[in-house]
Amino acid sequence: MRILVTGGAGFLGSHLCDKLLAQGHEVVCLDNLFTGSKANVAHLMGNPNFEFVRHDIIDPFKYEVDQIYNLACPASPPHYQYNPIKTTKTSVMGAINCLGLAKRIKARVFQASTSEVYGDPTVHPQPESYWGNVNPIGRRSCYDEGKRCAETLFFDYHRENKVDIRIVRIFNTYGPRMHPNDGRVVSNFIVQALKGENITIYGDGTQTRSFCYVDDLIEGFLRLMNQTQTVGPINLGNPGEFTMLELAEQVLKLTKSKSKLTHKPLPADDPKQRRPDITLAKKYLGWEPTIPLAEGLKKTIAYFKTKI
Ligand code: NAD
Ligand code: UDP
Repeated sequence: MRILVTGGAGFLGSHLCDKLLAQGHEVVCLDNLFTGSKANVAHLMGNPNFEFVRHDIIDPFKYEVDQIYNLACPASPPHYQYNPIKTTKTSVMGAINCLGLAKRIKARVFQASTSEVYGDPTVHPQPESYWGNVNPIGRRSCYDEGKRCAETLFFDYHRENKVDIRIVRIFNTYGPRMHPNDGRVVSNFIVQALKGENITIYGDGTQTRSFCYVDDLIEGFLRLMNQTQTVGPINLGNPGEFTMLELAEQVLKLTKSKSKLTHKPLPADDPKQRRPDITLAKKYLGWEPTIPLAEGLKKTIAYFKTKI
């Protein structure tokens, strides 16, 4: 197949491009390089089945493809809050452009949604049936509401225009090719530990997250995209749940770092707990994560050692 990956030069997108090319597909990677980089796909540049296009998804685009994966959107809180209006435009206008194209060329289209649609959840763990607890006017809203609106658009194009959609709700995912200055917790802690800098715990560090290794996640993407039993939304994430203090402890142990913990203010609306209910992913995709946190962290630490 010929497959368009928006956000293909980002952390997740570049791993997806690798996997699709390895399966023998042609890949068009479209990215404006806001948080992604050519370095993430440099190893693919000579491949005749790979094409890089520098383009912003808020402007329309046309490619004759069989499938579209829409991943374009900054994912780290400091990056998506840097220009919040642009973040909403990227999610909403990007979704409209992907869906309009998918409708015209009859391509299957996949949306990278997020556990942030559940906001600061009052139901734990979070099943897909939970409607969420999202502040519509806070600092995280540009991302959360943009992604929620994108889901709405996907379902309306599906119901009104029979567009063949798939939606995945991604829970915190980490691994090689995260940017060292990405700002998300796993990369921050590893970079700080390797440099011997203080580990920045926001708030008291008792908030929880569930961390999925990138290879497991990409396998889930492919399974969702290439089955016909469900359009989603489907949660993909690792149900192992850790406090930020526990994560810091694991990173310090695995890096053998002498870094000390330092506390910084908790960002506004920071969710207190997060863990995916992956019953539907197991049922429809036969998917569950295979890489435990310690193993994924070791691979990620090895990557960052080559970058620092
Ligand atoms: P990332 O920042 O590394 O990748 C995003 C990519 O999109 C970058 O290459 C960036 O340059 C590109 N991009 C941003 N705005 C664009 C625009 N207007 N036009 C074209 N390209 C644009 O982040 P990631 O972790 O790889 O996230 C990929 C997708 O998965 C995002 O949509 C994100 O919301 C979603 N997601 C990721 C996670 C996670 O834990 N990694 C969790 C939930 C959702
Ligand atoms: N966090 C932290 N130190 C950091 C970066 C993040 O303690 O240097 C916390 C953050 O407040 C949040 C959790 O780690 O509670 C996950 O943050 P991240 O930005 O990775 O993702 P998200 O909040 O979007 O899940």
